[in-house]
Formats: sequence, C-alpha cells, structure tokens
Amino acid sequence: MASNPVDYMKYVVVTGGVLSGLGKGVTASSIGVLLKSAGLKVTSIKIDPYLNSDAGTMSPFEHGEVFVLDDGGEVDLDLGNYERFLDIALTRDNNITTGKVYANVIDKERRGDYLGKTVQVVPHITNEIQEWIERVAHVPADGSSETPDACVIELGGTVGDIESAPFIEALRQFQFRAGKGNVCFVHVSLVPVMGPVGEQKTKPTQHTVKELRGLGIIPDILVCRSEKPLDSETKSKLAAFCHVDEDAVVSAHDVSNLYQIPISLFEQSVLRKVSVHLGFQVPTKLPILDEWREMADKVDTLEEEVRIAMVGKYTGLSDSYLSVIKALQHSAFAVGRKLQIDWIESTDLDPNDRTENHEEAWRMLESADGILVPGGFGNRGVEGKIAAANYARVNEVPYLGVCLGLQIATIEFCRNVLNIESANSAEFDEDAPVHAVVFMPEISKTQMGGTMRLGSKPTPFLVDDCKIRRLYGGAEYVNERHRHRYEVNPDLIEKIEASGLVYVGKDETGKRCEIMELNGHPYYVGTQYHPEFKSRPGRPSPPFLGLLKAACGQEI
Ligand code: GLN
Repeated sequence: MASNPVDYMKYVVVTGGVLSGLGKGVTASSIGVLLKSAGLKVTSIKIDPYLNSDAGTMSPFEHGEVFVLDDGGEVDLDLGNYERFLDIALTRDNNITTGKVYANVIDKERRGDYLGKTVQVVPHITNEIQEWIERVAHVPADGSSETPDACVIELGGTVGDIESAPFIEALRQFQFRAGKGNVCFVHVSLVPVMGPVGEQKTKPTQHTVKELRGLGIIPDILVCRSEKPLDSETKSKLAAFCHVDEDAVVSAHDVSNLYQIPISLFEQSVLRKVSVHLGFQVPTKLPILDEWREMADKVDTLEEEVRIAMVGKYTGLSDSYLSVIKALQHSAFAVGRKLQIDWIESTDLDPNDRTENHEEAWRMLESADGILVPGGFGNRGVEGKIAAANYARVNEVPYLGVCLGLQIATIEFCRNVLNIESANSAEFDEDAPVHAVVFMPEISKTQMGGTMRLGSKPTPFLVDDCKIRRLYGGAEYVNERHRHRYEVNPDLIEKIEASGLVYVGKDETGKRCEIMELNGHPYYVGTQYHPEFKSRPGRPSPPFLGLLKAACGQEI
C-alpha cells in the first residue's frame, strides 16, 4: 500500500432519516473501519444540531453518556464509537454543535470580522461549518503526526429537522468545495415490516430521500435498517424511487453482535462502492477486516457466563453507561466469558428506605461475580451504592468503583472501618460533620459548563507492586480521562491508608487520590478517572480487565 493512498481528503457524509436511533453512528463507524482496512488514515466528525455548546450539561437520561476526550472535551457518545472502532483519539473540535458554530460567528461579528455586512445563516453560518469541517478533518487522530486521508462525518438528528437545516445546506455546498469526487453521501433509513406476510415497506425511505434530495443532496448509498436482509424486490423498488444504483441499496439487518456490522457492510460491497465513488484503490488483502471477522465470530461462541452487577441510577437506559458496558465487554472477551450485566437500581439496595424491589436487588447483588459502581452525580441512590461497596468489601467480592465509585468506597471505609459514622461527601450532604469527599478547590461553584476537572491527566503509581499496577503492565504512570468536581479529603488520607485502603496512584502533586486498592482483598479497586473511555476491542481497559479476571477467579 502506498503511504499516501489519496491525493485529496475524502469525505463520507452520513445522514439519517425517518427516525432517530437507527444506528447511524455505528454505520458511520463501520464505514470508517472499512476505509481504514483499505489503508486510509481515518478521522471523524460528529455534528450535533443542538444549541448546547457541548454535551457536558446534558442529562444521560436524555442523551446517553457524556463521552470525555483527552483534551477534556465533553462530547456526544458517538465519538466514543469512533474512537473504539477506529482506534483513534479525537478532540473537542471533532464534535460540532449549533452552539459552538453560532458562538464562533457571533465572536467574529463582535471582533469586526464581517464589518459592514449583514451576518446571516447563509453564508456566514454555513461557511463557518464548512471551514470547521475542513480544518478538523486534517488534524491527525491516530497518534501519528500524519494528516488523515478520509473523514467520516455524521450528521445527528433526522433530515428535515428544523435544527439541522443549516448543516444540511453547508454539506450540500461542501460537495462543491471539496470536489464532487471527494464526497460520498450515505443515507441511513428504516425499512419496517408490516402485515401478515411481513412485507418490507419502502415508503418511509422514499419520503426521507425525497426530502434529502429536495435539500440538494443525492445519496450515493442507502443503508436501510431492517430486521431481515432486504429482499431483491425491496431493493429494486428503493433504487427506482430513491435515485440510487440498485447495488447501492444496502441492508443493515439485525446481526448477532456489533462487530458483525462492518463485515456485513463489506459483504454487501460497501467498501467497493465507496472506493469507486471516491477514487481510491482497495488492496486485495485486508488484515484489519480479517481481525474484525475473527473477533466478531469469536464473540458469538462465548458460552460460560460471568455476571457483573452494575449498581447505578440510569439503569433503565443502557446508553447512559455505554463506554462502561463496552469496557466490560472488551474485558469479558479477553477472559473468554460471555458477559451478563445485572442492572441494579441503587435506590433498591438502600437498607434504610426499602423499595418493593429491595429483596430482588439484593438477591442479584449477592449472586454477582463482580460489582461495579460507575460514575454519577447527585445524592439519589448513594446509600444503596455505599451498601453495595460494603457488601463487596466484607464478602471479598471483586469490586470496581469508577469516579463516584471510588468516592463511595472511601465513604464506606470511613464509616465502617474507621468508625466515622457521619462520614459523607460534600456533594451529598454539605452539612455532614465529616467530609470524606470534598469539593475541589479550583472548581467553579457558579459556572456549570466545562468547569469540572476534565480530560487526560498523568497519574504516577506510588507503590512498586499492586494488582492495579500489574494490570497496567507495571507502568510508571497512567494517562486516563477525568470528569469530576469532588475528591477524597486530603486530610483523611493518612488515616484511611493506615487501615489498608491505599491510594496507590495520586496526581502529580502527590495529594489528589486517583487510584485506590484495598490490601488483602481479591480485587477492591477504584479510580477517580474514567478508564472506560480508553478501552478498545482487543485492548481492554486494565481496571475493567482486573474486575473480570477477579470475577472469574483468574490470577492478577
Ligand atoms: N459526582 C462526583 C464528582 O463530581 C463523581 C463524578 C463522576 O462520577 N463522574 O466528583
């Protein structure tokens, strides 16, 4: 493969129609995998047409998890899919929002950059979007200093939404700016099945493509979500009504696991179609895709279960913990087990406020091979989480506490080992007599957006040998991503450590607790950072791998 397979940046633009939640992000990431397997260096951009500057102030209930990048960007969870699928590291600028675009344009207007002009959506906002895309697409993302060859752009929302109109218009113009042979439009739609014979219905897709074409974008490839592979009749009909080649109608039918999606798209010639459209060569050997195929097939063969109890408060919505689930899956795969997550609403574990699900929740907790307390905010359900941490500590059940989960374990330890019964976090009870967890001094109390301790920070290990350091391969320090406002009270550290809960990693000042491990326990670990964000298929996050290993009784 030549080191520079393309002369110009190639763009694949993925839009969506009919309804949200069709797996547009996964389709876009999978196309990225295909491009990468053809030897292209790939980056990606997610466009979110909402007015928030970033996802940091949005509830995981509404929008799924807030994904955190190395540079501290708080972004849409789709960027997590891109990082995991393509093994790249993105920046906050790879997530474009209406809020960011307008803020930039208004700044420029105030500076006088448009002096004398009326500032308008077209051309000022649409130009800003195009310039942004072009600039960010050229930023290296794979850890090298080389410019990417291709950029996958996913437009959030559904075509026809009022909010996405300026972005659609910008993307329409962009095909001329980048050169028509350098932009490939992929539209993801839905083909529902109706009636007694299970007829595949094409009308919703016909309508969304009509809408897209009305806005000046002609899809080159149509990816249709459907339960079963599309019938040839359905394909012909869609091709005829949607102005696409018949072999450019692709079915994104249900598959046994996520890793099968790039394979399924490849088998339907998506890579060939994209390469013909964008003008690059596809080599005969595709080792990256072969690895995917192997992994996808192996995932299907795992039989023996490992049960992890996930004690959280957004348990009804798995998107709220997407990266945590991924990190668990990567780790379960590495230990050769099938992952079973038992979702436990933390309020149901509260011993002092019994809900009707209390007994069932405890039964699930007690039958788990490992317990995970993920990140979280606010005091709802914390007593249940503290009870779970206590159960894991006392009964020697493997435990991983992520961010809030480390703070929870610290509070539990102060209450039940150091006998400081009133110990709490300042976040849950500002008036508690003893704060085991305190507000970090540098954090703003008035400004909520983007003011937490965010992003990648180095954490040196302070002990020569412990389980978690072994899991990180004996590293001197780790570089993981943070998102928090509170920390373990520095005044209590000495006392806590003297009783066996050791903060084996602290920040560079040596004061801020980052990694905890309990002496004499099979696996009782907490991290103030969020290791899940850097977990990869085939390279699971070490703290999660440790939890799974311990849960399966494997040595660490
Ligand atoms: N609420 C806690 C804090 O702000 C934990 C944050 C988290 O789990 N991400 O410190």
